[in-house]
Amino acid sequence: MANSITTAQKWIKNADAILVTASNGFSISEGLNLFANDQKLHEVLGDLTDKYNIPNFLTAFGYNYSNELDRWRAYGRITEYYSHNYHPGKLMSSLKKIIGDKPYYIWTSNTDHHFALAGFNNIFEIEGNWLNGICRAHPKEHGITNLQDKLHNIYSKDQQGTLENDDIPKCDQCGEPLSLNLASENFQIDQNQLEGFSSFVQKYQMDNILVLELGIGPNNQMIKGPSTQLIAATEKSRYITINKGQVSIPDIISERSIGFSSSIDDAFESLLTGKDLGLKITGPKGPQPELSPTQQQEQTEFLKQIFPSYMIERGIRPSELSMYMTIDTEHLSHLHLLEQGQAWMYSLGNSALVHCFTKDGKYYQVKLGLDKSKKQVHGFYIEPGTAVAFEDLNDNGAGFSQLNGSIPSNSSGQVLIPKKDALIEMFPGQADVINRLSID
Ligand SMILES: [Zn+2]
Repeated sequence: MANSITTAQKWIKNADAILVTASNGFSISEGLNLFANDQKLHEVLGDLTDKYNIPNFLTAFGYNYSNELDRWRAYGRITEYYSHNYHPGKLMSSLKKIIGDKPYYIWTSNTDHHFALAGFNNIFEIEGNWLNGICRAHPKEHGITNLQDKLHNIYSKDQQGTLENDDIPKCDQCGEPLSLNLASENFQIDQNQLEGFSSFVQKYQMDNILVLELGIGPNNQMIKGPSTQLIAATEKSRYITINKGQVSIPDIISERSIGFSSSIDDAFESLLTGKDLGLKITGPKGPQPELSPTQQQEQTEFLKQIFPSYMIERGIRPSELSMYMTIDTEHLSHLHLLEQGQAWMYSLGNSALVHCFTKDGKYYQVKLGLDKSKKQVHGFYIEPGTAVAFEDLNDNGAGFSQLNGSIPSNSSGQVLIPKKDALIEMFPGQADVINRLSID
């Protein structure tokens, strides 16, 4: 696996920017397991563990305490241990070495605030962090409050036995109680973090961006989904995923992906030193075999039915076709079913509307274009098994819309026509759309 390590090192070295994504596997590597019922839970939460029969730290945050003081005691004890007394270890220093002086952003669902406490600046905490509070009565209106000092104060008084109701943090605008700003119906996204993150993605999405994924399980799609779609939609980007036990890499990006099924510590050491530690490493996969000329011809005939006006470039990557599709109000693309995932990007002219019918019965639309205020996206990845059609939105006066897609070319018949009647039966609410977009 020495080759994979060298390749991964080269990807890091050549990256224009690094997007670090991290979830609870990273926290666990740092010694914080939100889900475990172990000695640590008792040690940190103390008498509250048995008093409320709390099975893990995650529950301790969401628990409906009968006593408000106990609620804040629990918050104080956990945040004191895991955030106030937090000392960044080897994992964080290795990550800093890997990032070097490249532009980076950290996108995490971890609420422990460790990346910030370790000195990183560009962070998007998509589920908030437990050192911030919001007004319980006016969560949207009264902003996010930093409770770092207050929580430490609560912990100290709790230890001295002097904690009183007056010590419970209140909203400084209306005096109502605060909640921690964590996943709940009132949760508020930090707009500054979100804006910083969006600008980062916009700035580097067409460049050589490296996604370094740390401890995100295959079933956790909240960050993994969109970040792998970002890779799929941009040809130069690369993906390195580290997850002990199981790594998952979507087929469409497998040529540009390397997975370490190992501890993050070991993978970091391997990436930093180039040493082969005998880790289980997969990828990058070699290109898939090309079609024969007859198969290519068959595929071309087939594609013509679906995309009346298109142009294909072969040979940029052997296993992928780069396709430029032009649609106008008279010539839309017809509904077709994807056996493999595809990435599509807006390139010229009017914006386009993409209709997607997923195999599990969901219908959604995506607007491909450049106007963010109209919720348009520049590019996106369509999951395998989706029936899809494209329409010109006729909004820029261009008379046409041109899109550019990358589709796999390694076998024929990957593009299938869904049965119109079956589709209408599955999506009765979209019967009009389906009738309009189906091949007669
Ligand atoms: Zn308030």
